Formats: sequence, C-alpha cells, structure tokens
Amino acid sequence: MSEKTIEVSNFIRNIIDSDLKVGKNNGKVVTRFPPEPNGYLHIGHAKSICLNFGIARDYKSICHLRFDDTNPLAEDVEYVDSIQSDIQWLGFDWADKLFFASDYFDKLYNFAIQLIKSGKAYVDESSIDEIRQRRGSLSVPGVSSPSRDNSIEKNLELFEKMRSGEFAEGHCVLRAKIDMASSNMNLRDPILYRIRKVVHHRTGNKWQIYPMYDYTHPLSDMIEGITHSICTLEFEDHRPLYDWVLDELKTPCHPQQIEFARLNLDYTVMSKRKLLELVEKNLVNGWDDPRMPTISGMRRRGYTPQAIRNFSDRIGVTKKNSIISLSTLEHAVREDLDEVTPRAMVVIQPLKVVIENYPVGEAEELQGSVHPKKPELGQRQIPFTREIYIERDDFMENPPKDYFRLSPNGEVRLRYGYVIHCHEVIKNNHGEVVELRATYDKETKGGKTPEGKKKVKGIIHWVSTTKNVECEVRLYDRLFKVPDPLADKTIDFTENINADSLVVLKKAYAEPSLKNVKAEERFQFERLGFFCADKIDCKDGNLVFNRTVTLRDTWK
Ligand code: ATP
Ligand code: MG
Repeated sequence: MSEKTIEVSNFIRNIIDSDLKVGKNNGKVVTRFPPEPNGYLHIGHAKSICLNFGIARDYKSICHLRFDDTNPLAEDVEYVDSIQSDIQWLGFDWADKLFFASDYFDKLYNFAIQLIKSGKAYVDESSIDEIRQRRGSLSVPGVSSPSRDNSIEKNLELFEKMRSGEFAEGHCVLRAKIDMASSNMNLRDPILYRIRKVVHHRTGNKWQIYPMYDYTHPLSDMIEGITHSICTLEFEDHRPLYDWVLDELKTPCHPQQIEFARLNLDYTVMSKRKLLELVEKNLVNGWDDPRMPTISGMRRRGYTPQAIRNFSDRIGVTKKNSIISLSTLEHAVREDLDEVTPRAMVVIQPLKVVIENYPVGEAEELQGSVHPKKPELGQRQIPFTREIYIERDDFMENPPKDYFRLSPNGEVRLRYGYVIHCHEVIKNNHGEVVELRATYDKETKGGKTPEGKKKVKGIIHWVSTTKNVECEVRLYDRLFKVPDPLADKTIDFTENINADSLVVLKKAYAEPSLKNVKAEERFQFERLGFFCADKIDCKDGNLVFNRTVTLRDTWK
C-alpha cells in the first residue's frame, strides 16, 4: 500500500484551505509537534506527528519540533533523544526548526512582567490548598484571594523575589487576573508561574520559577509564528485561556488552536505515566519492549513506519472521541509487510521426521520464491535431506475428519518439495511423540501430482535437520487481555496483563537463507506470521526474531 493512494482530507485541512483562500497568515501554514520530554512517544503521538508533519509536507512548509520542557521534575535527556529518533524513523523531518520551550524562559518572564504592569497578573501568597478551595466548583463561583488587589508595585516586587529564589517552594504563585466567577474553571485566575527549586536539563539552576503549560504554550506558538496549533480535545476548555494570554499581550501574531480527538486503542494503555509504571516495575523489558505501544517498541517489534503512517491516515482526524480496534493497526502492518517482506521457512516447535526411502547423507536444493508476487526478487535455495523438522502442530495422532496436515498413515505435501507419507510414530517413555517415520514420493517434486494419484490438500513448512540455522523466536501478543485495561477500578491495571504476551522459543530452525540476517530485517515465516530480526539482540551470529504480527487476525 503506498501512501499516495490514500486521499488525506480532514476538518483541520479544510480550515487551513479556507484560511489560505482568504489570505490569512500571509498564505503561510506552520504547525508544530510539542512533546513533553517525560517519556517515550507512543502510537497516540504518532497520530499527532502524522497530522502535524503531514500538513507541513503537503502545504510545503516545515513542522516545528518543540520540546515542552516546563516541568523539570519529570524530564530527561534520554527522552529528548528518543523522541527525535522516533520522529525521524517515522519518516519526518523538522529541518532546522528544533526548539525548546525553555529557550523562551527569558521572553516568557518579560511577558509576565508586562501582564503584571497592565494589572493582569498578581502574586498570590495563599497556600495551594487555599487557592484550591477558593476556586469554587462548576456550581459554586470562586472567591477572590486577598492578594488579588495588591498594587502593581507590590506584585512586581514579589515576583522579583520569586525569581531570585527568596521564597521557598509553594510560598506563592503568579496568577492571571481574569474572572473568579467564570463558568470556565480555567479562567478563574489560573496559575502562570510557580516556584520550583530544581535543576533543569537545559537551563541548569538559572531559574527558580517555572511557567505553566497553559501560559507557555500560546506564547511559544506565537514566538515561532505557528499558524495552526493543533492539540487534543481535552484542551478545548483551555482555548479561552490560550486566546486570553495572546490578546492581553497584544502579540503580533495569534495562532489558532484547533482540537481533535486523541487516539485510543483497545487492549492498550497510552498514558505515559502508566507506561512508565510498566517499565519501572519491570513488567515489560523497557520502553522499547515490543509489546509496548511506544514507537520504539513497535519499531523493535517490526512495524514499518509506512504501516503506522497508513494507519494514521486511515483512522482520520475528527472531533469525536472513539476507541480504535488494535486489529485495525495490525491490519495496516500486515498489509504493508505482505508487500515488502521476503519469505522464509522456519520451524519454531520442531518435530523430527525421518524420510526412510531418501538416501542417507544425500541432499538436494529445492527452489522457493523470495516473494510469491515479485518474481524479480528471484529464488531461494532450500536444502532437502533425509531428516527434516516439521512443526509439532502440523502432526496429529488422532485427527478430526477435515484435518489436512500429517497424521499416522496420512500424507502431506512439504512446501516446495515432495509429498510424504507417515507410517510410524515414535514416542518416548511419557507417551509423547518424538519422531515420525515417513516415505516420500519422488514423482511429486515441486508441487507435481503424478497421473492417477489424488492431489494432496495439506501443505506444511519444514526445515532440514542438518542444513539449517538455529535461532531464537519471540512470540509477542497483546500486552493486555481485556479491551479496556483501565476500566475495572477495583484492581490495578497491571493485573490485566496478558501472561502469554511473550513466549520465547529458544530452539527454532530456519532455512539457511536466513544465515546472514541483520538486525531489523523483516520476513514472512511461511504459515506463521511476519517476523523481524531483533534490533538489539540479533548480533554476533545469534539469530533472534520477534513476531511482529500473525498472518491473520487470530485474537479471540
Ligand atoms: P500522555 O497523556 O500519553 O502522557 P501527553 O498529551 O501528556 O500524553 P505530550 O508529550 O504532551 O503527551 O504530547 C505531545 C503531543 O501529542 C500533544 O500535542 C498531544 O496532544 C499529542 N498526543 C498525545 N497523546 C495523543 C493521543 N493519544 N492521540 C493523539 N495525539 C496525542
Ligand atoms: Mg502533555
């Protein structure tokens, strides 16, 4: 599936088109993606990235990457780095438009002074509890703080003391003076600055006060000349504050905030706080665990950037919250991988079959296509020998009537090879099947059915026991066993983790064409699914494959 076949249109692009038609913003379209560097990016962020960077691409502009680093407590350089590499991997580029909200701290401080001077902001020395109590509720109007009517001079003096570190954390805050009775709680004199005596990953200990998101965001957008500031629906009620800040400061440009519905996926948690909890409690193997909905997890699992972009385009952009099925994402992954991945045979749960009428020590090369729909990719050589492995699941001692794979006295076709007939089942002391004895029919090579013989319906994959490469295979499944892992408030969401979400098979056997596979190479293991060589552990001759997705939607 190529990107060009998807016609992207949505209500945000319609707004942009109308703006362009009337010559708004001097015909410019500038978007931004503003992550907070307090975790790795997830598939929800991917939707926002595809939207913002996609608009920039289609309107011949550049999307800014701006780190919203106003909360030094939760932020980390590791996150700053991972966010950049994830966006690049998704196929987007911010050129030289990389910014940090912390770069604007001086400007934001000066704007705050301006607000104080125009009587639109004041320092409140009430405690956080008092501020909360006086805020009222949706049905009760707020009550003014005694500090509300302090003089401009006093506010300037107190704010300077906040800045210079004279006050302890929590001693006071800077608030906007808007309307304590507003029906919109965000306008009841929201906090603009608070004291935080912590080191910032970029500004060090220069600042003892840090601006709040709702104040920082409109001003950062304005400073960068953003035209359309796209955010998720929770910010709809914050828009009046976004506009208030810019209107009161009479800024030269006034970006338009537009909200859209965030992506929610079933069987998934998306909040960074919850994802961090999974990482910190070692319930997954790091942020890039292939079961995580993070971009780095999906990458390690084998998802392609194209599949994620196709998915984002397909789910669209609306104003209505909904839950998208994880199957929709998996479908996009399957569809893209089917087009691009070479095929290989790998047996992950081996059962030995000895083909008794095949000469000992002999071998022959059978031919298989690299990709069934792409003859130009050529053929692969698959060695056939007297002893082979088949999948344990492909043999049944007492099969039901419509079973087409191998069973005692039954026949099956070996893919690209011969029809074999099973005539003996060997078991160990526990009664478990450990080996099969079979014969092959020479006339059936490469899919042929000799005249007068019945066509064999079942085809199974196999690998030679002597000419193969050993590998480890990790079968990944959904991390949660219920569609909404957060729904049941009586239990911790981690109790909903699917215990079978990772099954490691240490001794799998692959056809020799996989010998020199490099990290992140993708394959379709015939009949099993799509797999990707692990980005980290597949090295130094160790083959490790992650199951990206099964061939069909098998989730029950
Ligand atoms: P989370 O709630 O997962 O912690 P966040 O919104 O706090 O996410 P930010 O780093 O602030 O994370 O997000 C950066 C951008 O990504 C924001 O513009 C935000 O609206 C957008 N975004 C975050 N989650 C989603 C989502 N699920 N769907 C679409 N966009 C999202
Ligand atoms: Mg946020």
